[in-house]
Amino acid sequence: MLKSIDCGALRKDHVGQTVTLAGWVHRRRDHGGLIFFDLRDRSGLVQVVFNADISEPAHALAETVRPEYVIQVKGVVAARPEGLVNPNLATGEIEVEVHDLAILNAAKTPPFPINEDTPVRDEVRLKYRYLDLRRERMQKNMILRHNVITFMRGFLNRADFLEIETPILLKSTPEGARDYVVPSRIHPGKFYALPQSPQQMKQLLMVAGYERYYQIARCFRDEDLRADRQPEFTQLDLEMSFVESEDVMALIEALLIEMVDALSDMRIQERPFPVLTYAEAMERFGTDRPDLRYGMELADLTEAVRRSRFGVFANTAAAGGQIKAICVPGAASFSRKRIDELTEGVKERGAKGLVWLKAERDGLRSSIAKFLTEEEKDAIIELTGANEGDLILAVADSPQVVAESLGWLRTHLAAELNLADPDTLAFCWVIDFPLLEWDEEEARWVAVHHPFTSAKPEHWPLLKTDPGKALANAYDVVCNGMEIGGGSIRIHDAEHQSMVFEALGISHEEAQEQFGHLLEAFSYGAPPHGGIALGLDRIVAILAREDSIREVIAFPKTASATDLMLNSPSPISPRQLAELHLKIVE
Ligand code: ASP
Repeated sequence: MLKSIDCGALRKDHVGQTVTLAGWVHRRRDHGGLIFFDLRDRSGLVQVVFNADISEPAHALAETVRPEYVIQVKGVVAARPEGLVNPNLATGEIEVEVHDLAILNAAKTPPFPINEDTPVRDEVRLKYRYLDLRRERMQKNMILRHNVITFMRGFLNRADFLEIETPILLKSTPEGARDYVVPSRIHPGKFYALPQSPQQMKQLLMVAGYERYYQIARCFRDEDLRADRQPEFTQLDLEMSFVESEDVMALIEALLIEMVDALSDMRIQERPFPVLTYAEAMERFGTDRPDLRYGMELADLTEAVRRSRFGVFANTAAAGGQIKAICVPGAASFSRKRIDELTEGVKERGAKGLVWLKAERDGLRSSIAKFLTEEEKDAIIELTGANEGDLILAVADSPQVVAESLGWLRTHLAAELNLADPDTLAFCWVIDFPLLEWDEEEARWVAVHHPFTSAKPEHWPLLKTDPGKALANAYDVVCNGMEIGGGSIRIHDAEHQSMVFEALGISHEEAQEQFGHLLEAFSYGAPPHGGIALGLDRIVAILAREDSIREVIAFPKTASATDLMLNSPSPISPRQLAELHLKIVE
């Protein structure tokens, strides 16, 4: 090794020892006869001193050294004089008096400072990611990610799981997103697809008798640009045989709780995790991934204002719609302009408008107050739990629009008003999802989870009569308003699998062509099985208190799926194109 010890490992015990260190010059201070560097390696920082009286040549060379140079020093560990101890640094009680200095590599001035957490434009950070990764924040995130993965592996190994890899060159499967495809050179006109997830492979491993499988799996989805999505991301993917929903949920809950306790100082709001049905989550929070760190639940006013003289309420109720509201604590002082902005926000989510009512000492003030009876006003106050100074915001529309607009409003306002404790993790389970949902655009039923999810046993007949009513054996795990994982108990026989394909409008021939392998496998003794996948990037981001998963991925892509460091995607040579039997059509 070019060093005898790590910079960050040096302590008072080492005083008097001669050590060799190697690393990057983090910071330099030149006091003439004395030059100080903070020397950095992965383990941390240590102060090294060049004293012209101790070594003239080392001191002279040190004058030429700039930040981010890679150097090697040999010197003696010395206690820092009283008063010069740095309590903020693990190595702050000592320094190294240098006898020999070697420059291992010079460095250009970096495009942004490595030694400070100053804001830098994302494009610059991504272009020079290897420099960005040198910074303390990124290094902490990478170490945390490693610790999370190590923890997961250890936990599952102890629980008798096997880690098994599955192919990256797979076959195109309709899992909901668009596939990334890879042209085959040997088979002209044919393509592999990169896995959206190892879903079918892990089910086939259950058929193969492996009972407990996991994998830290890379998944690829060619989805349209949305904030904080990555075209490739990582899941903790697992599957178990002979289990029911509760078994998978209990395992994952234990994993998450032990992981947080081991790796984080954040507090888990409630354990065991609360379990909400999909219907309940939609009704109370307007979303299937509720943030439970704060209240502002949706209150249903429909019955209370069904006969109101305010036409919007009465007509909506008569048409089978809903009138629901949230009560925003202390927000009665919101200006007209602020309410107008919120109104724009709900309009973008399909609502026709936003009704506001301010709870004041002498009752409700609102542009619609004159249409409301005292009884109606009392009911609104009671149902929303409004106190003096609160603002009630109501939407009248179809249940879907009401949920979407109030769900958005709730999280939007919680963020604006800092209602969520950043040190709390509010986990919950959401269960009893519908198996299918109607896709307006495609005019057909699509799987809410994926086509391999089973229906509740008593709901199978509904597939033929009222498909939208059938509930699935599916579960999502949610944390602080984000879905961090989802899974289900699968179908394990060809007959039920064919029923779902049929309900999805997949013909017998198509099913054979795309899923023949699975249907056939199910005819050779497939065990009942189920599993889940956790979004690893998101989990690490939450524990790192980062908003974006980009901050916890070493080499992420931009929102438009480009790699600014490698400049990819990029054209390939005409020769490569020809080999792959491809022609570019402009
Ligand atoms: N493969 C599923 C997904 O990626 C997860 C699962 O059902 O296990 O969402």
